[in-house]
Amino acid sequence: MSTEHLFPEKIPNWIGGKQCAAESGEWLEKRNPHSGAVLSRAARSRSVDINAAVGAAKEAQPEWAGTTPVRRGEILHQVVLGMQACKREIAEVVALETGKSPKEALGETGGAISLGLFYAGEGQRLYGRTTTSGMANRQAMTIRQPAGVAGLIIAANTPIANVAWKVFPALICGNTAVLKAAEDTPATAWIFGEVAHKAGLPAGVLNIVQGWGEEAGAPLVAHPGVDVISFTGSTEVGRLIAEIAGKRLAKVSLELGGKNAFVVCDDADLEQAVHWAVLSAFSNAGQRCAAASRLIVFDAVYEDFRRRLLERTKALKVGPTDNDDFGPVINVRQLENMLAAVERAKEHGARVIAGGYRLTGEAHRDGFYMAPTLVEEISPADEFSQAEFFGPIAGLYTVDNFDEALSLANDSPYGLTACIHTQSVHRALAFTQKVQTGVVIVNAGTYGSEPHMPFGGVKNSGNGTREPGTEALDIYSNLKDVYLNINPQKL
Ligand code: NAD
Repeated sequence: MSTEHLFPEKIPNWIGGKQCAAESGEWLEKRNPHSGAVLSRAARSRSVDINAAVGAAKEAQPEWAGTTPVRRGEILHQVVLGMQACKREIAEVVALETGKSPKEALGETGGAISLGLFYAGEGQRLYGRTTTSGMANRQAMTIRQPAGVAGLIIAANTPIANVAWKVFPALICGNTAVLKAAEDTPATAWIFGEVAHKAGLPAGVLNIVQGWGEEAGAPLVAHPGVDVISFTGSTEVGRLIAEIAGKRLAKVSLELGGKNAFVVCDDADLEQAVHWAVLSAFSNAGQRCAAASRLIVFDAVYEDFRRRLLERTKALKVGPTDNDDFGPVINVRQLENMLAAVERAKEHGARVIAGGYRLTGEAHRDGFYMAPTLVEEISPADEFSQAEFFGPIAGLYTVDNFDEALSLANDSPYGLTACIHTQSVHRALAFTQKVQTGVVIVNAGTYGSEPHMPFGGVKNSGNGTREPGTEALDIYSNLKDVYLNINPQKL
């Protein structure tokens, strides 16, 4: 399949407004998750390339910071219009790189555009706070100042949304940025760079570097010229980043993994609960930080819920088209990790009631396809209950009552999202108050947040920061207190 109309076979970096290969001239292979074939090659960047990108960002920063926020918003609005104009091409790239359906990729691109619009509008606000003072003849206020150069590192699961989540808030605040693209979705980041360039984003304001995490991501985190780091990815890598950045006291935002609980009470509308459970566990092949991977069901409705869930799960279609429910996982390593985890769960006595294997045969041959997988009879202490697999795998658990459900939901090192299905306002309210997560949903699925809302987790799901919403502005800008004093003698 030719992809030349969408992106070059060798995907370069964008540094200082120009496309360039990595200094070493090396390229890394990106495979098509649907077929396993090589789809493209991306620049294999290392420290030297990161130095060049940070240098370009540093050089461009004073002028960008000196541009009024309203004007920055206008320029970012042009980027959004550029995305809108080539929405289909962007979605095609997303679909090719991830294996998700064109319809889903288009929906994701629409989400990225909405987010861009939200932040372009922020250029007209960027509010600080004006307040009273304890002293006579004094006024107190805060103003927002850019942090400087932002280092942005993202995961591949929703690639264009992930780019937008970081780039728009970073730039509207007056920072310039170096984005380390996810190695599994290099062309999505590249095409965003092209759209931004064509829309008139000044050279050096956004630099995009391709490469592996250890080779290109780590030097970006360690670079003394990077003032704020925002990372979306695994908890394991988030910890490493926090350590490295912590040594030089750099500001860090970490949006990490989840092991999200989906609670079904005995008074739930079971049809609705099953509908949302299937979407929450399997959409985007379970590659969502917000995916429901622990389905916690009251004993009284367990058999009924399980029967309906199995029926729906077995009817799911897996493949890359709009007629499929979800696609492949992003790479073979991810697939093999999940298969091994299912085997270990079986050794610990768990029962696989759906899936548990790689899909093969004509439609899935050589693709990274995992059958939708449901497992029961798992101890809450087992790896299967505690670790994130980031794929179409969920465990089923039975509980006697609300207290047990809540306690099991909270028995996790993660705390990103959770949901509860109940008709009782009392159960719903108590759950929203007591569940240890950053997002909680009543009577729907476990999902991420809308562009104007703050998303993020507690415990091992993050470090307490929130993106997007206006809360992301606190990551990408520093507040400065300003005190204005009146001299009464001079009146
Ligand atoms: P990952 O942590 O392996 O990689 C994420 C990014 O970090 C990639 O760009 C990678 O190249 C880079 N990286 C890897 N090692 C690095 C290092 N040593 N230094 C700097 N950068 C490094 O994660 P993944 O498997 O690609 O993505 C899945 C994870 O992302 C899951 O845990 C998922 O829950 C999480 N995620 C979280 C959110 C959120 O908003 N909380 C959203 C999407 C995904």
